[in-house]
Amino acid sequence: MAINLEGHLAPYAARSTLSRGRHFAEPAPGTRSEFQRDRDRIIHSTAFRRLEYKTQVFVNHEGDLFRTRLTHSIEVAQIARSLARNLQLNEDLVEAISLAHDLGHTPFGHAGQDALNACMKDYGGFEHNLQSLRVVDTLEQRYGAFDGLNLMFETREGVLKHCSLPNAQQLGAIGQRFIDRKQPSLEAQIANLADEIAYNNHDIDDGLRSGLLTTDQLDSVDLYARHRREVEALFPNINGRRAINETVRRMINALVVDLIQTSQANIAAASLGSIDDVRNAPPLIAFSAAMKLEAQALKRFLRENLYQHYLVNRMTSKAKRIVTDLFTIFMSGPQLLPPDYQVSSGSVMEQARKVADYIAGMTDRYAMREYRRLFAVDEI
Ligand code: MG
Repeated sequence: MAINLEGHLAPYAARSTLSRGRHFAEPAPGTRSEFQRDRDRIIHSTAFRRLEYKTQVFVNHEGDLFRTRLTHSIEVAQIARSLARNLQLNEDLVEAISLAHDLGHTPFGHAGQDALNACMKDYGGFEHNLQSLRVVDTLEQRYGAFDGLNLMFETREGVLKHCSLPNAQQLGAIGQRFIDRKQPSLEAQIANLADEIAYNNHDIDDGLRSGLLTTDQLDSVDLYARHRREVEALFPNINGRRAINETVRRMINALVVDLIQTSQANIAAASLGSIDDVRNAPPLIAFSAAMKLEAQALKRFLRENLYQHYLVNRMTSKAKRIVTDLFTIFMSGPQLLPPDYQVSSGSVMEQARKVADYIAGMTDRYAMREYRRLFAVDEI
């Protein structure tokens, strides 16, 4: 008999007892909620450990203090749990979704994903959200009775944040909401926005740390400038890292508080009775209109000044070449792949998917090493 760890939740929260369950039936956990069990399975997975050596903007070897996908995922989980607790939603579920949300990312962040998607154009494409689901549904090999982690429906629903319509049509129950244009749980909506809060703020921090951004440039961003002035008024002699950290933590707090207040009002206005009402309602976890504009301005600033900085472009260009060349050489010579990734059926579609799985699973440094092993004549 499972213990009740979810008695404090709002009626519209996701609950183990009302869940759509696991694909393969398993006995209820005795000491944890079902969603705690999901979180624990994610933490113990191989793909989770790989996050330590994968990056979003900077490449792993560029500096020890930059965010990796692992520290990013932990920051997302922290923000998401705060939001969930305030809204009486399921903290265990938001934590599980947050920790799993980037498991399907290729090496080298968006550059790697774009390159792999282009390579897979004739073989069904490559979407990182779908790949995250593929990791937890099939690629992890830890259990005797099934492939994957056999997670709860609501965890899987949260991991599959976006999905193209053709892919949604192949996925059955988990893809249905994209066809019906329905929402996922409030917990999934929280994890999604916690992701945004985390990366916008840590990219400022990492951008400044790397020297690619300056605090003068950031003064053109209202959300930053407003909090920077507040910090300088409180601490007239503050400067350097300490001033940046005080500013960024206030920005995160402002976004979190706004999101809680706006979402609370949205939830109250929607008069929800259950998670099914959540699925039929419009998105309810949201920023106020004013904060949304500020967050968009911050995103625009990062896109123009950091993600398209010429030094980032150089790495992006290199990353695309590495991923594309690896894909090409493996497709023309599958015998170069480790045996587990060679298909015996002779199907090009199946082989391409295996190559994509292999490349997507690589860490930044593994991909670079593999590239050297295959293309540098003096490397073994
Ligand atoms: Mg993320």
